[in-house]
Amino acid sequence: MREAGIIAGNALHTGGQSIRPGMTTYELDRIIHDYIVAQGAVPSFLNYEGFPASACISVNDEVIHGIPSKKRKIKNGDIVSIDVGAYYNGYHGDTAYTFAVGNVSEDARRLLEATNASLYKGIEQAVAGNRVGDIGHAVEELITSYGYGIVRKYVGHGVGEQLHEAPEIPNFGNAGHGFRLSEGMVIAIEPMINLVGDDVRVLPNHWTVVTRSGSLAAHFEHTIAITSEGPVLLTKPTIPCEAPPGI
Ligand code: MG
Repeated sequence: MREAGIIAGNALHTGGQSIRPGMTTYELDRIIHDYIVAQGAVPSFLNYEGFPASACISVNDEVIHGIPSKKRKIKNGDIVSIDVGAYYNGYHGDTAYTFAVGNVSEDARRLLEATNASLYKGIEQAVAGNRVGDIGHAVEELITSYGYGIVRKYVGHGVGEQLHEAPEIPNFGNAGHGFRLSEGMVIAIEPMINLVGDDVRVLPNHWTVVTRSGSLAAHFEHTIAITSEGPVLLTKPTIPCEAPPGI
């Protein structure tokens, strides 16, 4: 799972580093696709329930599941969420990051920092003996302090031989409640945070989830192993890239 995770993490940041204003989300998807295939891995999302691309690329008010398109050009000031899965030697890795393109607004900058920080608050709680609610509570506590909206209709999940496995890992919850975490479990923690309001809607393409308010949204995700030595980030990239905070 470490190998699958590293491929996913490196694919994500290879994509992120290649973003330029004027590029289409289709071109970005091809770069990510080609990286994954060159490692001998398979893009987990390609054809997943009919998804037509290798990465989900969601711009600005798109929260998740954006479909790469030759018609969608990335602009200076956009925020671009990329979600990538890689399947290698029988296991998946799943990871996401929201990249700032050029000069973004102060609101956008703060949203990205807070959402990334909330992911690491959740990861700190991914410890054997804790419960799923401890993770959700930690994410919720930080995000609530900013007044942002936590998307409730979509949640994190177990990861393994399948991309999405039990248990669900919500980004909200009550400390001390829910499924008990144990050594050897692997989960994806993935806060999806709206600048304004927590509600979302699905576009007529049946995939792309956008904020109901039309505000910006951010999405950060790591696949985490719960071990005797605490949480281990399986999707940490090994290529040079924007330094994640915390662990
Ligand atoms: Mg996921």
